[in-house]
Amino acid sequence: MSTTRGTVTLVGAGPSADLITVAGLRALQAADVVITDRLLDASLLEGLRDDVYVVDAGKAPAMHKQTQDEINALLVQYALEGCNVVRLKGGDPFVFGRGGEEVLACRAAGVEVRVIPGVSSAIAAPALADIPVTHRGVAPSFTVVSAQSRVDFEVYAKVGGTLVFLMGVGKLGEIVDGLVRGGLASSTGVAFIENAYHPDQRVTRTTLALARAAAEEVGLRSPAVIVVGDVVDVLSDAGVVAFAA
Ligand code: SAH
Repeated sequence: MSTTRGTVTLVGAGPSADLITVAGLRALQAADVVITDRLLDASLLEGLRDDVYVVDAGKAPAMHKQTQDEINALLVQYALEGCNVVRLKGGDPFVFGRGGEEVLACRAAGVEVRVIPGVSSAIAAPALADIPVTHRGVAPSFTVVSAQSRVDFEVYAKVGGTLVFLMGVGKLGEIVDGLVRGGLASSTGVAFIENAYHPDQRVTRTTLALARAAAEEVGLRSPAVIVVGDVVDVLSDAGVVAFAA
């Protein structure tokens, strides 16, 4: 082990191995230790040198592997041992990725840390479904929401523009009820994009009125991005009838 300090690089892996940035890939190829995340494309790890130590810190909700504190401690520990540590995170590290906490933990320990952004599923998944999150004359803004937040979804009905919900599969009913209560028309377009950029990816287009039935019909499963707004149909010839109850 070297006596000089290593560094920590948070790398956004994007939603699939093809969508990591050039800078992210370079950092990965220079790593001594790679600490991985859930929802990561395993093929990203295939090209690593044989001597790279890979720690799987994926945190599946049911099979909790490592706590965030434990992950923070690992990042610091390996860096202090002199390793170049890459913390590989799905999508972008700062979009519901707890990347900020990891940066703070490194800085508190005097460890140099940098962040290489990634392509977030918040925009990549809509793109896959032919949905531009902004569109002139249709949506001047987009709002990315964690459906796990404790906010009443009603407030987002007033925001305008496109709404993009992450971690929302188990909260779909609450999202729909809140948005309709908040004043969004029940004809507003909704899209579910499941497992974007993976072989089993699936897109479902519906409306607020039909969203629950559509989710049940297709057996909506996580990970999925839920998009709500007029942009859902802006490039779609078929309109909202792609799913009809
Ligand atoms: N940092 C990540 C988000 C982590 S939160 C990013 O920027 O993409 C995890 C949520 O992201 C999932 O619940 C789901 O809503 C979304 N997600 C991640 N990967 C996805 C994928 N391949 N397809 C659809 N949704 C995905």
